[in-house]
Amino acid sequence: MTRLYLHCGLCGHKQANGLLSGAAWRRTEVPVQDGSGAAAATLHACPSCVDQHADWQARLFSGLRPLQA
Ligand SMILES: [Zn+2]
Repeated sequence: MTRLYLHCGLCGHKQANGLLSGAAWRRTEVPVQDGSGAAAATLHACPSCVDQHADWQARLFSGLRPLQA
């Protein structure tokens, strides 16, 4: 079995993905440019970051580091 981990894009917190733990996390998809075309990346935010930052989604976006080809 593959064990998946959720990785918070804001604080770097990692947590094993499970039915209970995963449900509290928030996720959003953003388009990313990888040089060969558009793709989508899924970003995650842990429950405590979502609590602390009402604008967690915008913070995740601004935290993205676009690849400079
Ligand atoms: Zn977090």
